[in-house]
Amino acid sequence: MANFDPAGYQPAQNLLEDRVILVTGAGSGLGRAAARSFAARGASVILHGRTLSKLERVYDEIVADQSPEPAIAPLNLLKASAPDYFALRDRIQDDYGRLDGLLHNAGILGTLTPLAQYDVNTWAEVMHVNLTVPFVLTQVLLPLLGNAADASVVFTSSGVGRRGRAYWGAYAVSKFGIEGLSQVLADEAEEAGRLRANAINPGRTRTGMRAAAYPAEDPNSLPAPESLMPTYLYLMGPDSRGVTGETFDCQT
Ligand code: NAP
Repeated sequence: MANFDPAGYQPAQNLLEDRVILVTGAGSGLGRAAARSFAARGASVILHGRTLSKLERVYDEIVADQSPEPAIAPLNLLKASAPDYFALRDRIQDDYGRLDGLLHNAGILGTLTPLAQYDVNTWAEVMHVNLTVPFVLTQVLLPLLGNAADASVVFTSSGVGRRGRAYWGAYAVSKFGIEGLSQVLADEAEEAGRLRANAINPGRTRTGMRAAAYPAEDPNSLPAPESLMPTYLYLMGPDSRGVTGETFDCQT
């Protein structure tokens, strides 16, 4: 576990100035908060998500914040195929010429079910969105990340990706996988030195996914996504230069 104190971190107002950052699942929850927070610190954010109307809302919020104008890139990750990924890459190449940051945030919960009854199709969907897509997207975007002087890739993990828990099935296994993917990428990129990869565990957070997993829980007892942004900002910006292959907990 990395040694970082989110409470003591004071990100500069222009921390992400001139950086181009793609956030997956930017329409709600942690992705929305991260996109707004990155933009507020000067980044040009590419808002990816499944639901266009949610992305348009976040776009409007970022413009109202007087942050740099974002871009919108809707894509259903359950249905996307090679041409969709290449089209996204080509668009980023044409519009910006490079990618400084990539936050793999989109994810699905699947069902909370014992392995004995876990539906195989649901298993495959969760593994696809939560693990295979971050691999594919990273692979496709590596040349653009290579064009940046200080590129950062951040993968979203979970507490159940470190210690398995009953009934969390594919979700837990996909998060174990994401930590492995982050470490393999970090190790491969270390020699080049211009790309770092780390995994972030937000911890229990007031979002739609958390409410689906714990319907009886009072959402007001949970931290808001916005309160976890110091760790996201640290990992996306120059203050974490040289930090790679690590895992971070937003809540201690
Ligand atoms: P959320 O509000 O449900 O956000 C998930 C995002 O993923 C949504 O924007 C959703 O887009 C997008 N997404 C899901 N399926 C997609 C698909 N097929 N194609 C494209 N986009 C898709 O949940 P969240 O809590 O913010 O989750 C963000 C990340 O944090 C996830 O990786 C989650 O595993 C992780 N996490 C959350 C917690 C927590 O307590 N909340 C704890 C640990 C880890 P649409 O809204 O358009 O469907």
